[in-house]
Amino acid sequence: MEIAVIAHDGKKAEMVQFLMEHKSILINKKITLVSTGTTGTKAEKAGFIVEKVLSGPLGGDAQIAARIVEGKTNMVFFFRDPLGVHPHEPDIFMLLRLCDVHDVPLATNPATAELLLKAVAFS
Ligand code: PGA
Repeated sequence: MEIAVIAHDGKKAEMVQFLMEHKSILINKKITLVSTGTTGTKAEKAGFIVEKVLSGPLGGDAQIAARIVEGKTNMVFFFRDPLGVHPHEPDIFMLLRLCDVHDVPLATNPATAELLLKAVAFS
């Protein structure tokens, strides 16, 4: 199973913390992580193996959206910063839209991501 992890700057620390807290599920369930560039670098520094695409503003969200369309990415954790302004807003909305088009589970905050991972753990 492939999970995409993306976090805006104000949420990157929360994402790393979330991954650390759920490391055992990720390992036990042999989850492949794919990530936008900067989020992925932070996850790597925390010890995770991550397939990185470009940084979000440079097209990374679009690359992950393509993986969703191609059926490669099965779940998305996208910790958005609701208080920030983002130059790549159209790409962000595209990614969210395509999750709905292709019925891919999407969590935009840690509480929802935790529920999704619990479902994975018991599957
Ligand atoms: P980043 O991209 O992980 O490269 O910062 C995330 C985003 O802003 O969409």
